[in-house]
Amino acid sequence: MIRAFLFDIGNVLLKFDFSIALRKLAQQGEVHDPVEVMARIDQIKLGYEDGQVDRAAFLRGAFDVLRYRGTEEEFVAAWEDIFTANEPMVALVEKLHGRFPLFLLSNTSDIHREYVFRRYPFFHRFTAGTYSYEAKASKPGREIYEIAQRQLGIEPASTFFIDDLLPNIETARSLGFNAHHYHYDRHEALLQQLAGLDVRDI
Ligand SMILES: [Mg+2]
Repeated sequence: MIRAFLFDIGNVLLKFDFSIALRKLAQQGEVHDPVEVMARIDQIKLGYEDGQVDRAAFLRGAFDVLRYRGTEEEFVAAWEDIFTANEPMVALVEKLHGRFPLFLLSNTSDIHREYVFRRYPFFHRFTAGTYSYEAKASKPGREIYEIAQRQLGIEPASTFFIDDLLPNIETARSLGFNAHHYHYDRHEALLQQLAGLDVRDI
């Protein structure tokens, strides 16, 4: 029996396109090829999202490798503005809210977490979340799922996890979670799986 839901954010609740940020950063710095921007910033980004460096150190590192000439506000504005709401999932959250506790499990940074809560009011439907930058661990490693279980007070056997990346689903299933490998082009498949678990009227 399902008693709680655990949602990934990127390409589940929100679609995202990181290339939008890369193009803006390429325009505002001395590295003009977005592919080169990504190559230079990727390791710094991963360390930031894993909580190994804080926001200030991330920004210093990113400005440095990109020889970025914009302001911190311009950088953060470019970094944030990569999301669009996945409307069928927003509707599902609204229907599940009040019937089940809803939680988040995301590989993300404080910049993106603060932004999505500010920009998309439906995030306030969630009771709590576990985030890689705070947990200092990330999916698909087991540790962040174990932290989420303790932090959120959820039991895998009664929790339904939704994520778009197969390795994240595989870890969840190995720990006993009910899980759905989501793609926004196949939203109906999620509803069918939930109906099979007696979660109806959604
Ligand atoms: Mg995702």
